[in-house]
Amino acid sequence: MEVGKNIQEVLGDIEKYSPYAKNVKLVVVTKYVDSLIIKEVLKTGVNILGENRVQVLQEKNEELSKNNLSVKWHFIGNLQKNKVKYIASYIDMIHSVNKLTLAKEIDKRAKENNRIIETLLEINIYGEESKEGYKLEELLKNLPELLKLENIKIVGLMTMAPFTDDENIQRMVFKKLGVIKDELNETYFENSLTELSMGMSNDYKIALEEGATLIRVGSKIFK
Ligand SMILES: *Cc1c(COP(=O)(O)O)cnc(C)c1O
Repeated sequence: MEVGKNIQEVLGDIEKYSPYAKNVKLVVVTKYVDSLIIKEVLKTGVNILGENRVQVLQEKNEELSKNNLSVKWHFIGNLQKNKVKYIASYIDMIHSVNKLTLAKEIDKRAKENNRIIETLLEINIYGEESKEGYKLEELLKNLPELLKLENIKIVGLMTMAPFTDDENIQRMVFKKLGVIKDELNETYFENSLTELSMGMSNDYKIALEEGATLIRVGSKIFK
């Protein structure tokens, strides 16, 4: 496994494919590896790490904190409401807000910790039943309530492309997320939505071309 080299390759692709490369951040998805390998990641200077399970995140965070390693943890998976309390004191961003009840719980736990937690709204663009994420009409219904929450800061949108190798479908989904961001910015957010979290190992180049600002890459780095 050549972690450093693989990360440099993805960073190079950001420059190559994104029209806004300076605004793009790589989230290294570390769910496949342990703390020893995470230290290899941190040696490259990249320190935004993504995990999709609370328990595992807790263990890795403790381990790295013991070594005084500074990490920005992004939660990227489906988050159960009853587990928010475990990560609320340190999580840097939650990519996967897909229910009002979850948003309210994050807000409550953020407040208890005197924090404002940055979040993204996860949107299910393609309508696959197996995927988490807001349908647009549900989101619009929830927005007035979401906007009242003072200890979460909604900074953008997240989506996952459907399971397909069809680049046209991937591109269509990413383009759509950008359009929704622009519309929400105009109507509700006064241009405070700046982030688009989209693109994983198999589709991040297309996501970059379509304006991704956060790409979540795991298997390509840890293969
Ligand atoms: C695992 C995971 C990723 C990374 O996927 P790779 O294909 O390994 O790059 C990105 N986002 C989410 C939500 C994930 O669960």
